[in-house]
This record gives sequence, C-alpha cells and structure tokens, in this order.
Amino acid sequence: MTDAPIPPVLGVDDLGPDTQPVAYEVSDGTAYVTLNRPDFRNAQNSVMTYSLDNAFIKAVEDDAVKVIVLRANGKHFSAGHDIGTPERDHHVEYPNRAAIWWDHTTRGGGDRRMARETEVYVQMCRRWREIPKPMIAQVHGACIAGGLMLAGVCDFIVAADDAFFSDPVVKMGIPGVEYFAHAFVLGPRRAKEILYTGRRFGAAEAAEWGMLNHVVPRDELQAKVDSIAEEIKVMPAFGLTLAKKVINTNEDQMGLQTSLDSAFGWHMFAHSANAEPDDTDSFSASLGGMDARSMRDSANTGSTGDSAPSGEKKD
Ligand code: ZN
Repeated sequence: MTDAPIPPVLGVDDLGPDTQPVAYEVSDGTAYVTLNRPDFRNAQNSVMTYSLDNAFIKAVEDDAVKVIVLRANGKHFSAGHDIGTPERDHHVEYPNRAAIWWDHTTRGGGDRRMARETEVYVQMCRRWREIPKPMIAQVHGACIAGGLMLAGVCDFIVAADDAFFSDPVVKMGIPGVEYFAHAFVLGPRRAKEILYTGRRFGAAEAAEWGMLNHVVPRDELQAKVDSIAEEIKVMPAFGLTLAKKVINTNEDQMGLQTSLDSAFGWHMFAHSANAEPDDTDSFSASLGGMDARSMRDSANTGSTGDSAPSGEKKD
C-alpha cells in the first residue's frame, strides 16, 4: 500500500476520448473503450475496472452504439491485475455493483479477499460477458493473466501479430486467474500446457489453438477490427443480442458457469493456503481457534449436550 493519491472512478458522464485509466469515444456506431494506463502497461486496479464498468454501461445505454471494441493505449493490452503500482487500490472501498456483497475494506483475511475478488474480478467479468451488444477485443502486445480475463469475456478476439499471452499465476501457487475459462477457450491439454509451464504463447499459436478470430500485422489491427464491426452493424441489433445469448447459454450448458465457480473456489483456497503459517500452530489457527475441549464445552452448552468432535474420545 502506498500513500499515492488514487484517482477517482470515472462516471458515465466523465468518460471521454483522453480520460484515464479508461478512455471512451463513439464513432459511426462503434464504441471504443480504451484501457488508458499505458505507463503501467494497463495494469488493472479497481479504478480501472469500475471505470470500465461505467464505460460499458454508457455503450449499452446509447442506442447509437451497435458494436463495442475493447482496446488499449500504449505498448500492451494489459499486464494483468495491479499488484504493485503506486495506484494499487485493493484497500479502497468502492460501491459494490457486480455482486451483492459487503465492503471488503472492513473485513479481514479470507473474508476480505473473497469479497473483493468476487466483486472486482469474477462477477465484473461475468457481468461484462452478458453485455447485450457484440464486443470485440482488439489485442496487441502483452495480454497477461487478468488481461486474458478482459479479452476472454469479449465475443471476438482480434490480435496483432505482436500479441502474446500467458497466465503465470501458477507461479504464486494459485491455479490461475479468478475468471478461469482456460479449458473452454484452449481445450484442456493446451490449458494445462500454458499453466504448467507458465510460458508465453504468441498470437499465431493462440490462433492455431482456436483462441483468436484473426491475427493481422500490428499496423493493420485497427482497420481489421473496424471492418468486422462494419459487417456486424448492418445486422439487426436485437437479433445479435439473441444470437449472443444463445451461444453464451450453450457455453453455460457445457458447464462454463459451474466451472468458473469451482475454479474460483480453488483460487480462494490457494490464496488462503499461501497465507497459512507453515508450522504446527497453524493447525489450531485453521480450526477457527477451537480445539477438542472448546468444541466439547460449546456443545455442552447447546441443547444436545453430548456431541464430541471426531478424534476425541468421549469420557
Ligand atoms: Zn486472486
């Protein structure tokens, strides 16, 4: 945590073509939502995710917008979640919107982490995946960890030939990012390969694996995305909404949602496992401060009065 001032979240009416950490502009029916924190490789702090949320709300509510493009300023799409810039704001309260949950800053331990990551990462991504307008991720440079989450919730991913991807979170002893759809996006064997090795994979490989719609030279990326958007815009808007709904539902029927829940459970366990002390005292700590005697005493004050915890002889 630093004492650096944290900039405010951009509201719907604050967003503009040059605003940071998210820029927004509409041109000819396309809303361009631009990650605009290039000095920090577009690392995602909460100011960015909440500003993104407002940018998407703005695009959804504007009837003139037919297609949403998510792109980035600077050398890279996104280096992932902010785990170390001066504006890292994991300790700041923002009004919860993606999930009905309490303020994480007033909690401790796993409660604090689960409240925050549920809101800022998992449920935000789920919410954005359900946006009822077509979304195209326009990716160049690094698209790492949390960057994969942002690109992954879009309908299309169009990448420059300089784009590269990875989820190196396993190096932290954690199975992967919070919104974990790798097996669906890459297939289980390739998902394991990129997780087990932590290695980067390039745009050509990602396209071969079915993760991308198109790969084009860097200087042709914007034109390619715009040409796809042009083709989409002539289609009836509500038909597109319904087609998106059907495909998303197909993925859900294949188990995506339950897979996300399961993966997030292991993700949270891994955070807690990393924090658990590596000594024998941790056994009592991990039992919530209870032991056999206190469990028995608490049971004796209850109505049954005779339940002994497993492992303890009844006397
Ligand atoms: Zn996490």
